[in-house]
Amino acid sequence: MTADKTNGASHSQNFGTLAVHAGAPHDPTTGAVIAPISLSTTYAQTSVGNPVGLYEYTRSSNPNRDNFEEAVAALEHAKYALAFSSGSATTAVVLQSLAAGSHVVSVSDVYGGTHRYFTKVASAHGVHVTFSPTIEQDVEDLIRPNETKLVWIETPSNPTLGLVDIEKVAAVAHRHGILVVVDNTFMSPYVQNPLDHGADIVVHSVTKYINGHSDVLMGVAAFNSDSLKERLSFLQNAIGAVPSPFDCWLAHRGLKTLHLRAREATTNATSVAKALEASPHVLAVNYPGIDSHPHRAIAIKQHRNGMGGGMLSFRIQGGQKAAHLFCQYTKVFTLAESLGGVESLCEVPSSMTHAGIPKDQREAAGVFDDLVRMSCGVEDAEDLTADALQALEKAVAASQQNGA
Ligand SMILES: *Cc1c(COP(=O)(O)O)cnc(C)c1O
Repeated sequence: MTADKTNGASHSQNFGTLAVHAGAPHDPTTGAVIAPISLSTTYAQTSVGNPVGLYEYTRSSNPNRDNFEEAVAALEHAKYALAFSSGSATTAVVLQSLAAGSHVVSVSDVYGGTHRYFTKVASAHGVHVTFSPTIEQDVEDLIRPNETKLVWIETPSNPTLGLVDIEKVAAVAHRHGILVVVDNTFMSPYVQNPLDHGADIVVHSVTKYINGHSDVLMGVAAFNSDSLKERLSFLQNAIGAVPSPFDCWLAHRGLKTLHLRAREATTNATSVAKALEASPHVLAVNYPGIDSHPHRAIAIKQHRNGMGGGMLSFRIQGGQKAAHLFCQYTKVFTLAESLGGVESLCEVPSSMTHAGIPKDQREAAGVFDDLVRMSCGVEDAEDLTADALQALEKAVAASQQNGA
């Protein structure tokens, strides 16, 4: 196809310009500014082996997936991006690219589904994962010569928002010829670009910030290496865990406002975190955007303008009961799992997203029964802060009345 695929977008442009224009060509036949959704599963050929355009069969590639992948590659400062049917499918494909007998070193605080895949699926195929709560210090010792092939980082961690210095870990891994993967779901490409800090592959659950409207399940991996492109796109097609053209189109539409949403979510989370921190009913606040965060220096080095993103967690006075009541009493924050949408959500990790982790392991990672996780959306900061404070007052009072 000779159409101008990038619609004037070039990698030297800034984030917002790329978010709107990268991978967003005008339709070459009608001039439509927004690409049509190509639902066709198959594409006509003029003679055997000569398709009319670029496409043959939709699992292998289709225009909407191509457009979305091109946009994500631009935003993550990558040469390539590949989209999958979920964040979990993305993780699975990266792990399946390893030969049986391979070893992986991972941070302990990974997304629950990632932990499940590492321990219950990858292990069944001969790939074993060692977890470390302090990977910056431990990575060198945990590397097994000739066996370790991958280091897996998730920063910030979920739900305590601890940060990992990507550059530090990558320097050690690369000395041993080992690839570094960063799950960047919580920060989104607007706040953090892991490839700029030495990561080899960045992965996202597009379900969260990139789509941003809580209506698409999707994943993406971005990277620069030509050999990774060959291997991972082979697996994308061979395994077939690919998103539909409709989902690619929706996620691409969501991505065009990522910079606006991420800035607003950061403003809102900062405001809520500061209000919570000032309350006598709060034992601790975990938010990388404020100076009390133990890894604030990493946030300043690794995040755009030291931004903290939209996620925070805090420990409420009054134990598990107060935590549960808080999430019932909020009116703007909806009690629900997931994150990264325009609407604000809250949940109690120990009873919901992290309930599957044994209590002692959970608490060692800072996930106490009184911890509440909040995903700040793009409503107004005043309303979110007022909502959090009223729910806090009510929940703490109610938990005291009936005997904690
Ligand atoms: C949600 C999530 C995933 C999994 O993504 P799905 O799209 O739900 O499969 C992976 N990593 C992180 C950090 C997540 O939040």
